[in-house]
Amino acid sequence: MANRAEFTSATRRIIAERAGYQCSVLNCGRLTVGPGTDPRQTVHTGVAAHIYSAAKDGPRGTGGLSDAERREPENGIWCCAAHGRSIDADDGRVFPAVQLRAWKRLHEARKAAEVNGGAIHHVGLVESIAVHSAPAAGLEGRTFELGMRNIFTGPNASGKSILTRLIASVAHPDHVADMSRDRDVDMGVRWFDPMTHDVATAGRGGIVTHVLDGRPVPYVARPYKTILLNGQHRTKIGNLTSLAQMFDLNIAAMSSVLALAADQGGVIKDVQREGMRMRWTVDVDGRIESFDNYEAINGSLQTLILLELAGLHARHHARAEPTFLLLDEFLDFHNAGVQVEALQRLQAAAEHAQVAIVSHSPVLLAEAPCDWAVTELAPQPQNHRDNPLAYDIATKPPDA
Ligand SMILES: [Zn+2]
Repeated sequence: MANRAEFTSATRRIIAERAGYQCSVLNCGRLTVGPGTDPRQTVHTGVAAHIYSAAKDGPRGTGGLSDAERREPENGIWCCAAHGRSIDADDGRVFPAVQLRAWKRLHEARKAAEVNGGAIHHVGLVESIAVHSAPAAGLEGRTFELGMRNIFTGPNASGKSILTRLIASVAHPDHVADMSRDRDVDMGVRWFDPMTHDVATAGRGGIVTHVLDGRPVPYVARPYKTILLNGQHRTKIGNLTSLAQMFDLNIAAMSSVLALAADQGGVIKDVQREGMRMRWTVDVDGRIESFDNYEAINGSLQTLILLELAGLHARHHARAEPTFLLLDEFLDFHNAGVQVEALQRLQAAAEHAQVAIVSHSPVLLAEAPCDWAVTELAPQPQNHRDNPLAYDIATKPPDA
């Protein structure tokens, strides 16, 4: 077979090892290596299936990738023998490439957690959002695939903030209700929890409708969790009530998060409550200082405090269900040092929660570790809707 983008044995091994020699298909996880009958033998039953096809006219197409790109480990998903067969059966129609990529991503995230000694409560992720109509021309007609760590960047009016609100709208349909007063909204989101769910959401003149997994529903009863913070939130924490509202928590739960925060070795050392008022004891560049109210704390420290609380809340929640922390231009107000420090803290703090940061900051883009996928939004749409990898967004690691 000439011109087939087959994997080398070294690549196959990378794909297998990244999967922990377990099937990556959602809810399968079958082990593909084990003892043979002879004490000196091992049995191998796994296969590296192609996400985009090895052959140019293969079942799932090439996705616009070159032969060399389709030979990369990134284009392979490790499977048990049975799933390897069914992935290529029926001309590859049963499992589309986008689903295989998401399963690979989820399975590898779980294995990474296990290698690091973490508990395996990570149960899902938000895989993609397709925007058909929205009050941002730059988003329309595009599908955004979402990783664990994302940065959305682009010029003004490219729709970055609207994208974060659309992601949050499955749990908070008010976002779509608001937007649909200006323009019809039509969008679809796919997530795993760990079952696959698809919701199509439409907004018309302030009225929102949902079709969840093929059935109309008044609202999504068990959505994924989103925590959306923007620059304005930073200055809106007068008291415990407003802080709890920001995190969509009740007062008792918010108080518990604050108590937990004091133990984490971060900037928050103690939070004392008097009614709804809070007295903050924080680490200011190595000095412990107390503040009678949040407004008295300087801006960059306010940001680190909020990120610490948001990361803690997101991390806890992600152990129970898919959780997405969305930071809309939250870090751009600060100098480079604060931005980089905030990103590093967040990287560890969020653990298995997904994170997306909207940012214009060249520093943030330059300093983000390579597992942050950078999505550049353009102000105007182009016509590449049929090619899954050729939307006019560029998804690449920032150091590429
Ligand atoms: Zn399997």
